[in-house]
Amino acid sequence: MAFERGGSGLGLVRRAWWDGELKEFVHPADGSAAIERSPGTSTAGLRAEPVPIARTEGGQPLQGQLIGRPVIPADGTRPLHLPMLKAHCDGSGACCASYHHMPTTSEDAARIRAVMKDRWEGPVPLDDVFYPAFDEAPEGPLNVVEVDGGCAFLEDDGRCAVHAAGGAEAKPLGCRAFPAVLVACGEEWHASLRSECACMERYATSGAPLHADPQSWANLRAGFVRVWCVPDTVKIDAERSLPRDDYVNWMRGTVASLSKSFDPVEVLMDAESAMGLSPGAGDGAWLASVAETLEAELPELERTHPPGSAYRAAIEWGAETARGLVEDPSAETGWGRGMAQHQGRVGCQLATSVLHGHTLLEQPLLGPALTELRRILWLGLHAAAVRPAREVDGRLESMTAWIFLWRNVLPKEA
Ligand code: SF4
Repeated sequence: MAFERGGSGLGLVRRAWWDGELKEFVHPADGSAAIERSPGTSTAGLRAEPVPIARTEGGQPLQGQLIGRPVIPADGTRPLHLPMLKAHCDGSGACCASYHHMPTTSEDAARIRAVMKDRWEGPVPLDDVFYPAFDEAPEGPLNVVEVDGGCAFLEDDGRCAVHAAGGAEAKPLGCRAFPAVLVACGEEWHASLRSECACMERYATSGAPLHADPQSWANLRAGFVRVWCVPDTVKIDAERSLPRDDYVNWMRGTVASLSKSFDPVEVLMDAESAMGLSPGAGDGAWLASVAETLEAELPELERTHPPGSAYRAAIEWGAETARGLVEDPSAETGWGRGMAQHQGRVGCQLATSVLHGHTLLEQPLLGPALTELRRILWLGLHAAAVRPAREVDGRLESMTAWIFLWRNVLPKEA
């Protein structure tokens, strides 16, 4: 199945070591099957065709509806708005074993080689750990070799070897920033965290408040080379749109409702109705298509990812739970009232993270993205009726795993 995954539009080169062998794949930007080739090869027949990336009429890059622009002096003085959320990182390394791309610059690589040169014991020479992430940009961003399904620097206890050897500042900027999100919205910065990280689910009610560490957010902003901005007009669907101020009022009203609720699905249904959408229509067909899409990925996964990979575990578990809920959509989780309320609160926190980080605008239309978020949270809450994610891999949690699959694996509705 071919579809637009967004991003650079270039095929992503990925090297992975498992079973005593270094393999290399190119993952095409259109989501089609990965090309396997000998490590270091980039002959024309073994490259992925680039997919044109969307741009505004003025040539600015688009990520869904968000518009990219260079940093300007006023960016340093704009106020920063943080949602009332809590978070904590337990260092389990789940995120370091979930992504194909650990974005790294040549400066990051030089610093890490210096920090690790007397400690490195990996199966690949340290000089070969970093390689160009895209055939078309040999001097551009680098990627990090995966070892047994995770970043080469991920240790067995879940710790980052670079962090352990050189402190947080030694890590690639992308790792230091993850899972933070900062988006420019008019004259303000809106901050959030990516809710696809398992720690977001584990510590949604017990972590530290986001506003407890303003300096980290200021440091993050200072490291930007490109800013993603909310457009003046937000498209709801093919016919309708909202001025930015009305969209922000809708977002803030929904976040306020989520802050008082134990049921994120109900709040998002109300938010869909307020936008003139029809919540519930097509939900069954969508769930069946999700199950089919993930099931279709399984043969490819066995070729491209080892059994210990969190990425592979998430997709296999997603296919199992989606199919289970297609067959029995009213299956019970078995939770008591207290547990159901806790999970509902966590779901409300995760929905708040998505809305406040303007993640819905990373898709072409707000309406379909909002409907998908509500369906994904329903899946995350009900998946436990089939099997909780942590039963198949202790690094995963059910709601954040479904948000990960939504953002990184499932095709986006155009
Ligand atoms: S460099 Fe460290 S923090 Fe970054 S992905 Fe690898 S193990 Fe994780």
